Amino acid sequence: LPQDFIAGPQCLQGKIILVTGAGDGIGRAAALSYAQHGATVILLGRTIDKLEAVYDEIEAAGHPQAAIYPMHLRGAAMKDYQDLANTIEREFGHLDGLLHNASILGERRTLAQTTVDSWDDVLHVNLTAPFMMTQALLPMLAAAANASIILTSSGVGRKGRAFWGAYAVSKFGTEGMMQVLADEEFDLNNTRVNSINPGATQTVMRRTAYPGENPQDNPLPDAIMPLYLYLMSEDSLAVNGQQFDAQVK
Ligand code: NDP
Repeated sequence: LPQDFIAGPQCLQGKIILVTGAGDGIGRAAALSYAQHGATVILLGRTIDKLEAVYDEIEAAGHPQAAIYPMHLRGAAMKDYQDLANTIEREFGHLDGLLHNASILGERRTLAQTTVDSWDDVLHVNLTAPFMMTQALLPMLAAAANASIILTSSGVGRKGRAFWGAYAVSKFGTEGMMQVLADEEFDLNNTRVNSINPGATQTVMRRTAYPGENPQDNPLPDAIMPLYLYLMSEDSLAVNGQQFDAQVK
């Protein structure tokens, strides 16, 4: 993140941005922050109550009206992603940004103890689902003047660690997908693709992964939003294929 970056108050005005896992944690903060900066946000997730709460918060703040798209990434098939693309095309006519944020932690076990079912589940939700969703949405993103795709990685997606199992492997896959997509889409369609490692952040997932830790030792999701805004805004038009850390240690 450039040190002098300050998000303009309306830096995302007119943009349509889809956020997965928008009901809680980092995805919720990103959806609210994007809306606050002028974007129309499509809130995608599996728990409708949570999505509705974010929708209401955006409405109460007077930001551009959001949209809710309930979807469970575990069971969704290619046809469901095609339906998603058709709905966005019909309702909004274009798509400028895609934040892949939803993920599951899976079992905190060694690979030696990881069941194939849990491996499949984690790889599907964290890697295959974003692949399918991206494929379905690419034509619309390519049609936008300068679309941005952000994939969410992790520290264990850059250096493997014991007990992070399929989750770590899925995040390495995420980095791989980011690099391949970046190399394919930027020159061809002016769609930039980058990844963010949020770093330790106060969310349900972090509390589950580190039950012994004091949650207050980690920043709230709001604190890491500057990077999320930077990569969605036109300040980052030339940035492609890069791995970012939201927290500089
Ligand atoms: P949370 O678990 O707090 O939130 C994840 C969101 O994704 C939730 O809204 C959840 O829905 C949604 N989601 C999970 N599975 C599905 C599914 N199958 N279909 C649809 N939606 C789903 O996680 P964080 O906010 O902590 O994490 C966000 C991203 O950041 C993840 O990619 C994570 O791997 C990454 N990350 C987080 C770190 C941290 O310290 N928090 C550190 C490094 C990386 P619901 O609310 O219904 O559960």
